[in-house]
Amino acid sequence: MALSITIWNEGLHEKTSPAVAAHYPDGIHAVLAEALGSLEDVRIRTATLEDPDCGLPPEVLDDTDVLLWWGHMAHGRVPDETAARVDDAVLRGMGFLVLHSGHMAKPFVRLMGTSCTLTWRDDDRERLWTILPAHPIAQGIPEQFEIPMEEMYGEPFDIPEPDETVFLGWFAGGEVFRSGCVFRRGRGRVFYFQPGHETYPIYHHPHVRQILRNAVRYLAPTAPRRKEP
Ligand code: ZN
Repeated sequence: MALSITIWNEGLHEKTSPAVAAHYPDGIHAVLAEALGSLEDVRIRTATLEDPDCGLPPEVLDDTDVLLWWGHMAHGRVPDETAARVDDAVLRGMGFLVLHSGHMAKPFVRLMGTSCTLTWRDDDRERLWTILPAHPIAQGIPEQFEIPMEEMYGEPFDIPEPDETVFLGWFAGGEVFRSGCVFRRGRGRVFYFQPGHETYPIYHHPHVRQILRNAVRYLAPTAPRRKEP
């Protein structure tokens, strides 16, 4: 059976900011879908905040093996009921790939059980270090690579200690950040990946796209999803 991927994007910055629309004319979700499109044997669906039921009614989540999540300015507009539905799906085995400012997304914060706050400042050059090179998510990724401009996210990052920290971000200002973290929750796996600020073409970067493809494969359920948590 083909792996079923749902890409959820808030989808608001692209409509209001020409700088964002320049990189993502059809939305961040469209570029993420394009990045994953070369995976074999997958079905890719996209959903946005403004779709009915946020695009995530129960029948969609029941048919999703891996859910990607990009959100920023409207975390509060995602109904609690939808966040609870996502978390329930993760506990039953769905993979959950949380991108960039999704660190404050309701379903992620609920799964972590901490504030998920971080240190933030304006943009800088980032170097991403692969600190678990044998990890499936790091396959084909060099020891380190640069992202010319990215929003600075730094420690302390108030998350529980990750089960695996695959990537560490370093910024030209000297800050460091746990940029690629795996968490196991119930039968599911969660991967938080920091690069992806909307005003830069981060999701066009070949290594970033490879990481996303690797992560989807890694997060895919290894056993049939359970009906109950
Ligand atoms: Zn950002």
